[in-house]
Amino acid sequence: MAEAAKKPLPVVDFLKLPDGGEPYLEGQKCKQCGAIFIGERAHCSKCGARDSMQATRLSNRGSLYVFSIVYRTFPGIEVPYISAVVDLEGGGTLKGNLINVDPTPEKIELGMPVEVVFKDALGRKDREGNSYVSYFFQPRAK
Ligand SMILES: [Zn+2]
Repeated sequence: MAEAAKKPLPVVDFLKLPDGGEPYLEGQKCKQCGAIFIGERAHCSKCGARDSMQATRLSNRGSLYVFSIVYRTFPGIEVPYISAVVDLEGGGTLKGNLINVDPTPEKIELGMPVEVVFKDALGRKDREGNSYVSYFFQPRAK
């Protein structure tokens, strides 16, 4: 198969890349109590219902729950960057990097509105030459 024909791959399995469609995040919603989780699971950790999870498309909008500014990490990763946890509208809580804002506490506000954006995962490729799509958070207007 030719290099150029390869589609980018999602960095995590809950990031969906439909053919010809917009990327989106997928969660698991409990049919009994409506709780939403990220990642595959058979049973609801909130109400304990068995085999009641179904895939649901998550919102691209949310608010910043908590963040930390990372100054030291693995070699080759640019610092500082902002590691954030975001509560998505309609349910689901997700960790990721907050981009397009200065990594200083003065510029970041808990509860600030953010949106999910999808981008190439920092240009990294694996040994087979696959590129990856990741999700990021960025501030959005209120
Ligand atoms: Zn439940």
